[in-house]
Amino acid sequence: MADVADEAVRATCNDASMCKWYAVQQGYWTDPYICLLVQQRAERKTPEINRGYYARVQGMWELLTAFLHKAGTECQVLGLGAGFDTTFWRLKDQNLLPRKYFEIDFPTITARKLSIIRSKQQLCKPLIEAHSSGNLSLADRTDLDTDRYALIGADLREPAIVEEKLRRCGLNPELPTVLLSECVLVYMTPSQSSQLLRWAADTFQTALFLSYEQVNLGDRFGQVMIENLRQRNCVLAGALVCHSFKTQVKRYLDSNWPHANALDMRDVYRSLPRDDVKRIEALEFLDEVELLQQLLQHYCISWAWKDQAGIGLDSVNF
Ligand code: SAM
Repeated sequence: MADVADEAVRATCNDASMCKWYAVQQGYWTDPYICLLVQQRAERKTPEINRGYYARVQGMWELLTAFLHKAGTECQVLGLGAGFDTTFWRLKDQNLLPRKYFEIDFPTITARKLSIIRSKQQLCKPLIEAHSSGNLSLADRTDLDTDRYALIGADLREPAIVEEKLRRCGLNPELPTVLLSECVLVYMTPSQSSQLLRWAADTFQTALFLSYEQVNLGDRFGQVMIENLRQRNCVLAGALVCHSFKTQVKRYLDSNWPHANALDMRDVYRSLPRDDVKRIEALEFLDEVELLQQLLQHYCISWAWKDQAGIGLDSVNF
């Protein structure tokens, strides 16, 4: 049964990347890499779904790049449950690459990602260029370690194993580190996600944890979201889902993070750069304004930080 549930969780990364690809095709944001990683034709999505994904991707990007501007290049990014995420390549195009970018997901997902990376020149070339020995060791089916990028197959519910693999790939807990978690914690039980958060708070001295996930699922709209996933054997095990984003802040504080904040996606959407929001609002006619508001209300971005190096993480905000 656990395998069926895990398989359903793994399948969510196809949905996320297909929706992102469709929105990219409509012009919501630029990502020349997502089409290389998505291996199926993206089905049409409604304007409210596209705007929701726009707010998710741009919202996470705003806080991530705010961190990178504070930390400079001597820092690390950890993509937790990264799926087919393309942030590494998008940062490279913006000259914002950290010292090292690590991605972690279940081995079946990293194996698929690795096989695509190997077969696509645009994905592989930046890794080789930034790698001192000039060629990549291709012996491993699920994991890859290069100078600037590592892909690690592991279960995030086992932080000790994750840490061991990260250290083997050169993780340095003393460097400022940003951890990205997009729709990942919600698939774990509250004790598993708290364990991961506590591990991160106890491991890094200067760090920002960024999370995007479902909230406020106690109402009818939320129940429909849960039921849609359940029909695909996918359980939102995080009981937090029925609570507000304030619960998310408490979860960080209870897991040894000294500071935390959260905004629901209506507020994130309102805080995104106005010119760009105006641009994307002109892309497609939105009939269901109310539906977009409901959708945004059921997701949030939360973040927690600790700043022993004093690099100014207090001011990372929207
Ligand atoms: N973060 C990516 C994005 O936004 O495009 C993927 C999101 S997808 C909804 C959730 C991802 O988290 C999947 O790739 C899944 O395999 C991964 N995941 C969930 N639980 C995990 C765990 N316990 N260990 C490793 N990966 C996990």
